[in-house]
Amino acid sequence: MIDCKLAELNARQAFTLRSAVCLTLRPMKTIAHTQIVESAVTCSTCAACCCQLEVMLITDTGVPERFIDTDDWGGEVMLRLDDGWCAALDRDSMMCTIYEKRPLICREFEMGAPECLEERQGITTAYR
Ligand code: SF4
Ligand code: SF4
Repeated sequence: MIDCKLAELNARQAFTLRSAVCLTLRPMKTIAHTQIVESAVTCSTCAACCCQLEVMLITDTGVPERFIDTDDWGGEVMLRLDDGWCAALDRDSMMCTIYEKRPLICREFEMGAPECLEERQGITTAYR
């Protein structure tokens, strides 16, 4: 029945139909594919890159005095130690030790936002 139909078609159409038939009759094979996995941007795989930025204290969230410094203009900022990271950062876990009292700026710094990605790019070798 297929051969009768092929006779009525020009060569191009016949080729297309044969291919379709072959594809239909061939046993199913596993189709190779590459799974696209987006790189996960998460604080848990980051060396607290944003905690090297200057953080101004523009509201009172209860940051302990020992973590507060004064900038050149007399404004309150988070104290940073010689390694560049915020004094309130635990150096082993790279977690904030005053999370519940962290400054407003820290609360608003959004994981995955362009600023976050930029900071992560800057110190990729520091990831633990
Ligand atoms: S907000 Fe971004 S830069 Fe900051 S610790 Fe999380 S992943 Fe790292
Ligand atoms: S207060 Fe906490 S979240 Fe903010 S910069 Fe310091 S360690 Fe990071």
